[in-house]
Amino acid sequence: MFIESFKVESPNVKYTDNAIQSVYNYETTELVHENRDGTYQWVVKPKTVKYEFRTDIHVPKLGVMLVGWGGNNGSTLTGGVIANRWGVSWATKDKVQQANYFGSLTQASTIRVGSYNGEEIYAPFKSLLPMVNPEDIVFGGWDISDMNLADAMARAKVFDIDLQKQLRPYMESMVPLPGIYDPDFIAANQGERANNVIKGTKKEQVQQIIKDIREFKKKNKVDKVVVLWTANTERYSNVVVGLNDTMENLLASFEKNESEISPSTLYAIACVFEDVPFINGSPQNTFVPGLIDLAIQRNCLIGGDDFKSGQTKMKSVLVDFLVGAGIKPTSIVSYNHLGNNDGMNLSAPQTFRSKEISKSNVVDDMVSSNGILYQPGEHPDHVVVIKYVPYVGDSKRAMDEYTSEIFMGGKNTIVLHNTCEDSLLAAPIILDLVLLAELSTRIQLKAEGEGKFHSFHPVATILSYLTKAPLVPPGTPVVNALSKQRAMLENILRACIGLSPENNMILEYK
Ligand code: NAD
Repeated sequence: MFIESFKVESPNVKYTDNAIQSVYNYETTELVHENRDGTYQWVVKPKTVKYEFRTDIHVPKLGVMLVGWGGNNGSTLTGGVIANRWGVSWATKDKVQQANYFGSLTQASTIRVGSYNGEEIYAPFKSLLPMVNPEDIVFGGWDISDMNLADAMARAKVFDIDLQKQLRPYMESMVPLPGIYDPDFIAANQGERANNVIKGTKKEQVQQIIKDIREFKKKNKVDKVVVLWTANTERYSNVVVGLNDTMENLLASFEKNESEISPSTLYAIACVFEDVPFINGSPQNTFVPGLIDLAIQRNCLIGGDDFKSGQTKMKSVLVDFLVGAGIKPTSIVSYNHLGNNDGMNLSAPQTFRSKEISKSNVVDDMVSSNGILYQPGEHPDHVVVIKYVPYVGDSKRAMDEYTSEIFMGGKNTIVLHNTCEDSLLAAPIILDLVLLAELSTRIQLKAEGEGKFHSFHPVATILSYLTKAPLVPPGTPVVNALSKQRAMLENILRACIGLSPENNMILEYK
């Protein structure tokens, strides 16, 4: 059964005019490796840490500025939200289609709240805590191409034509601000598009981005802005001692107009200076160590990297299932072909390399979780190929072959063929990223013994369900398995309203 909303009544939860306060017992374990009677043993000690959470319930008017606004993802997300806002429906050859948010964790998925008369009761994910309504978001942003969003939507060839016709009047007047363009960082084939660029030194470019954010905020009367990079994949920046390895070095290099600071890092610097959350939806290393350092020093949320939309999402489910079932994947081979502008940009070796790196580590945590199947250092062969095939446009094809060793030396091969419009997968993920980033800036917590409430660590691991190569603070484990990432996010939000983690035990009926 489905319910729209619910309220928690508990001595551990207090609703005030401004906040939801909860006291939460975090059940965890402490591990010790100690010498007992002459031999070393692992000892696990269950422990409970009391946490307090405080969530500001005032939902701000939110502005979302996309870097690469006029791209396939940017125009698809903007058009999709407008269609939802105005309840647009359109004729396809199959049926009359209504606008929806399918593919969005916050808008289209549910959480289990409990059992009632022997039935499981589910509520929308977004009913956990007060979140911004996507239809209230004001969109804006930058693009190195000056095409308005209506023409950009037509160029993207993602939406059905009848829908495009209805959206055009809303989108014609939306024109991206000039962007920071550096041909050294994206493929040469993007040069033709770059007719809308900010001139000047890197410092002047950052100053312009700061000015743009301030003016956007003022003009649209928004309380908060989140910036998200959905522009083309850049090549990796070289991380060099003295250049971008620390906050001081990065800021000094930027003052000196050093060429190795990428456009994406410049946008991120501007955002951190402005205390505006910055999310990177592409695979490059925007967050060089100096930038992570800067974000930590200034306590500004950063999150990334690379939207986890299709092939990698499947991989982080399938390999988790196989390894969790005691089956040993030994070879994972992934082919992709796509024909959109992202595919054209990725046809250059340097930008492809960024994607290859971001796709490659996705099974590491699952492999290292099972020392019965894998020896230390052992890893399945894992190869990723991406080809540009203009004819298929945004409709990306992903073909995967998983070969595993099963019982008594047997072999099992699973082959997947996935066809899907890439931007229709990415757009709802972008929405979730900005909504959850905004929400997480309203949550404060403190553990037993900590004097003051504080926000989450500025490196937002809470967003990792949505990213292919989750950015984590130095010294923190990376979790790629999709179900664990979802559980982490859901359970943290549940803790904010004093609910225990979903444990699936259903002891009531045992
Ligand atoms: P796209 O090429 O259609 O759009 C990118 C836009 O960014 C273009 O309009 C381009 O003009 C603009 N741009 C490039 N450099 C810029 C800069 N420095 N400043 C401002 N604008 C700039 O690509 P897309 O299909 O929308 O994908 C966007 C990004 O998202 C790509 O890097 C892609 O790898 C990443 N991504 C997409 C998916 C997906 O499923 N669609 C999944 C993971 C990651």
